[in-house]
Amino acid sequence: MSGNELRAVARRGLMLVLSSPSGAGKTTISRALLERETGISMSVSATTRSPRPGEIDGKDYHFVDVDRFHRMVEAGEFLEHARVFSNYYGTPRAPVEATLAGGKDVLFDIDWQGTQQLAQNARADLVSVFILPPSLEELHRRLSGRGLDSADVVAERMAKAGDEMSHWPEYDYIVVNSDLETSIGEVRSILAAARLKRERQAGLPAFVNRLRGLDRDSGG
Ligand code: 5GP
Repeated sequence: MSGNELRAVARRGLMLVLSSPSGAGKTTISRALLERETGISMSVSATTRSPRPGEIDGKDYHFVDVDRFHRMVEAGEFLEHARVFSNYYGTPRAPVEATLAGGKDVLFDIDWQGTQQLAQNARADLVSVFILPPSLEELHRRLSGRGLDSADVVAERMAKAGDEMSHWPEYDYIVVNSDLETSIGEVRSILAAARLKRERQAGLPAFVNRLRGLDRDSGG
């Protein structure tokens, strides 16, 4: 009974951001987290880039054209937005705010620019995690894929990864992804601890008053 009551302490949801250079395993970690955790859902970004094979509009991204993207920016519809490489990306504000207000958490796969904006505008709700590859060799191996790309293309991906990685000091937590299961466990631990932060337990004063028998007159 008391365990159930404690879990029922009202809290505002949090924003869990995962960033990494491509090739560090962020997508796999996000998927595992969503499968294994309850009470957290993925923020679906809008983007001007074209869908890749297998990507579904409304599930992986909201695919929009550049005009529509700019109209959304002007209407204040994004919580954050950025140009990443040659495309625009943005986080629609309304679904995130509704989820947080309902006491549920939101997972974001966004870059360092978006994370900086969230840190400025919504610091209290933000928990940010940067995922690093275990070594240069491993990153190179992952970015070379099946070895079908030219050395130039792979070198360009490595340079982009290097730029992205330089932003690790701006994050709350750093996970080095040498073993996938270990990394998933680490991100789940970060989420578990963040959910229990005193500052997030909006319902705690009333809960403790009940535990102390101080609210008997108020019918609680
Ligand atoms: P991709 O095009 O490969 O799906 O994503 C490219 C990069 O854009 C990734 O680093 C991803 O984290 C980032 N990204 C995806 N959605 C958003 C967004 O809404 N905002 C920002 N700032 N970055 C995003």
